[in-house]
Amino acid sequence: AAKDAGRHGYQFYSQKIGRRSQQRLTQRQDLIDGIAQGQITCFFQPQFDARTLALSGAEALVRWDCPNRGILAPADFMPAAEDAGLTSKIDAAVFEKVCALQDEWDSGGVAFPTISVNLSKQRLSERAFREILLKRLSGHHKLSFELLESAFLDQVDGEALRNIQSIRDLGMGIELDDFGSGRSSIVALQNIKPDKIKIDRSLTFPIVDRPAQLLILQALSKVARLEGAQIVVEGVETERHLATIKNVDCDQLQGYALGYPMSQHDFAALLKTQAVPALSKL
Ligand code: C2E
Ligand code: MG
Ligand code: MG
Ligand code: MG
Repeated sequence: AAKDAGRHGYQFYSQKIGRRSQQRLTQRQDLIDGIAQGQITCFFQPQFDARTLALSGAEALVRWDCPNRGILAPADFMPAAEDAGLTSKIDAAVFEKVCALQDEWDSGGVAFPTISVNLSKQRLSERAFREILLKRLSGHHKLSFELLESAFLDQVDGEALRNIQSIRDLGMGIELDDFGSGRSSIVALQNIKPDKIKIDRSLTFPIVDRPAQLLILQALSKVARLEGAQIVVEGVETERHLATIKNVDCDQLQGYALGYPMSQHDFAALLKTQAVPALSKL
């Protein structure tokens, strides 16, 4: 009987594993099909001048417009994409989407700020990325690329360094994303010499409850300034965050208090009105 139970236990276990990898397989195939069918799209989260609160940029954030599951956020599919080696393809689709939109705005006479695009470590290391950059950039696109500081924890390969150089040569910006969230921050800052750093929202969030946290942000900002980088503060989530951030030397603000990620349609409307965020009295 014990042997039976063991066998059943094992069977149950292997069925569960089987089901899980089956699910993963389905999602992988769905994702491959979705990419091919143009279901990769992006939302835009506005960024604002820290002093005037005028619209001063936007970050393109990937979404999967999945026919049977709706609009999915990166957390719902990027881990699977990473397992399946598909992040590069996704980044390429977002890049193309943003370039096409900028072409559209240009021909419609719509003024727009620089758009920041997230770049996976995998994409950054591809030679094909440089070729696309050179081909696409003849259209004078206003782009900047966000790289995760964690991508610089290990040795950076030669191809990635050449791509970073090409981005600079083409006059586009390099931003260090999620700055301060890991143990690679200062090393990455000094090695890459980014145009901008984006202070991670996990550091911004506690500033309203912990006075010492404000000192950390001020210190990070000072280090970034010494290295000649501009500073974006992410995760300005509430008006209390906004009020506290006034004590940090920075250039741009991004967060729910000022603007949520929005569809390209809503973002185009924002571009037309250039509306300053509606805030209650601070
Ligand atoms: P990220 O680049 O740090 O982007 C900021 C994320 O924080 C976005 O989530 C945004 O919606 C969220 N956020 C913005 N303001 C606030 C706030 O005030 N409070 C809180 N709690 N959250 C805020 P999202 O869109 O889910 O993106 C998550 C991550 O997925 C991004 O983090 C980025 O690392 C990755 N990602 C997004 N798009 C792409 C892409 O095209 N390619 C690659 N490789 N990664 C991407
Ligand atoms: Mg980012
Ligand atoms: Mg970030
Ligand atoms: Mg982040």
